[in-house]
Amino acid sequence: MPGTVLPTEVKIAKTPNPPSFATVAEERLHRKQRLASAFRLFAKFGFGEGVAGHITVRDPELQDHFWVNPFGMHFGHIRVSDLVLVNEQGVVVEGNREINESAFAIHSRLHMARPEVVAAAHAHSLYGKTWSSFGRLLDPLTQDACAFYEDHSLFDDYTGVVYDNSEGDRIAQALGPRKAIILQNHGLLTVGPTVEAAAWWFITMDRSCHAQLLAEAAGEPIKIDHENAIATRGQVGNPMAGWFQFQPLFARIVREQPDLLE
Ligand SMILES: [Zn+2]
Repeated sequence: MPGTVLPTEVKIAKTPNPPSFATVAEERLHRKQRLASAFRLFAKFGFGEGVAGHITVRDPELQDHFWVNPFGMHFGHIRVSDLVLVNEQGVVVEGNREINESAFAIHSRLHMARPEVVAAAHAHSLYGKTWSSFGRLLDPLTQDACAFYEDHSLFDDYTGVVYDNSEGDRIAQALGPRKAIILQNHGLLTVGPTVEAAAWWFITMDRSCHAQLLAEAAGEPIKIDHENAIATRGQVGNPMAGWFQFQPLFARIVREQPDLLE
């Protein structure tokens, strides 16, 4: 209904801030713990598809290096000690497992193109990849989907599995300054200034794809108007909101699967 005031469950002013750290070692451990927890959550949400998918986080000290999942390990088994550190050339400098070449081809170029991006997430989740086959952006059908309103883009040039850094560059270019991109015929990719935000955007984007698929299969959903979609994006789509939305998921997965911290 035009002019309807949307509920604002996420009150930005009252949310706590991400922690600060006395040393890079503390910050590195914090990032690695959140990264391992994000993989466990991706497994729980059913985002795994064989060996596909990767989440990366920039090292707080070696800014051109990033931590990533070892290739061929189930998201649901990943512990902090399994994470692998890769340098700007794609060489594993910590950890003794291989990484997925396409993880490096895509994520290294994103991290290079967007210095403020600390983390990036990509997986072949069912609803994200289904939606990606339409070559359409998401509409602002729900409060949650407004996080992506005029803040995601489309990469419509699918040419097979990404092994080439130049394709990573083209994806980074299509992403631009936004928080997410739909890789047509492939899946979703999200970025954030924290692992928590990047992982949350991925989770809620996949669910927004699911919601729009359900809505359009059932009828003709009503879109939130431009002005309210922009205002809502400011509320639920800012990096602090993304970070905060992840907090209860982190608490739950650590309580349920404490071995992820090992
Ligand atoms: Zn992929």
